[in-house]
Amino acid sequence: MEVALKMAIQYQHATGHPEKRRFLTPRGGYHGDTIGAMSVCDPVTGMHSLFAGVVPEQLFFDRPSCPFHSDFRPESLASLEDAFTQHADQIAAVVLEPVVQGAGGMWFYRPEYLKRLRELCDRYGALLIHDEIATGFGRTGKLFAGAWAGVTPDIMAVGKALTGGVMTLSAVLAKDAIAEAISRDGVFMHGPTFMANPLACRVALASLDVLVSSRWHDRVRHIEQELAAGLEPLRTADGVRDVRVLGAIGVVEMAEPVAMDNLMAFFVDRTGAWLRPFGRLFYTMPPYIATGDDIGIITTAIRRAVEEKAWR
Ligand SMILES: *Cc1c(COP(=O)(O)O)cnc(C)c1O
Repeated sequence: MEVALKMAIQYQHATGHPEKRRFLTPRGGYHGDTIGAMSVCDPVTGMHSLFAGVVPEQLFFDRPSCPFHSDFRPESLASLEDAFTQHADQIAAVVLEPVVQGAGGMWFYRPEYLKRLRELCDRYGALLIHDEIATGFGRTGKLFAGAWAGVTPDIMAVGKALTGGVMTLSAVLAKDAIAEAISRDGVFMHGPTFMANPLACRVALASLDVLVSSRWHDRVRHIEQELAAGLEPLRTADGVRDVRVLGAIGVVEMAEPVAMDNLMAFFVDRTGAWLRPFGRLFYTMPPYIATGDDIGIITTAIRRAVEEKAWR
């Protein structure tokens, strides 16, 4: 994400807009723990107060409010449009997680939002950066979450499943026009010692071969059905606010924060599942090799935790 942000700044500089050097991003986002990435995380849960004066101040808008499985409401763009009309001359790029906001709240929003956002970015000369670090490589049921909207970002970050979690590697992809503009102006100013580490790249290639030669699409669809069957019954349970399933992601949102320490012990000692709830959320993102039985163990564990009130 640091690299994606730097790329947007250098692109704006190279194309005659050195004044565009801030980022516009929704509340509820999560983009990583380094200083630049932290600056575009949710300002409350991202601990901006602890690092006030150190983390650059970016521009925030309300998180996309219309749920994935609902009609699109144009009003959900109001806060974004306001931010553009007030600050367009300073905005280098809009940064967000397409369709699924992950660690900032496990929230799934309507893909059409991204289409409208793409139009606004084009109208105001801002780049669009998709953070697909959590959503990339099939997690939401599409190879990349941006595909739900048919939207191509200018810059995209991938990580996590890129190497199947086996080695540390992330990557930033950009449209040719971005790369060419930066290279005409000079060089891209980023080059840490282990960038494009050959061993990590080889692992990524092997992992991607496994993914594309597997029936990942069917597996994710089955996992989606199994998660829905296992978690939907909780919709009416005491203390539950919402149940959401998309691709291989299952979420049970409670009305109040859950007792995390008690719960982790409960899961390990009593259910045979290792789960890590946070805030008001139980969630699971199982690997695609998970069988129906595996998913059953996970959903039964969450149902028991809720029904036996282990979250109190
Ligand atoms: C995990 C995550 C990151 C951070 O990736 P690191 O490789 O840990 O820096 C950024 N964005 C999203 C959406 C993530 O889920």
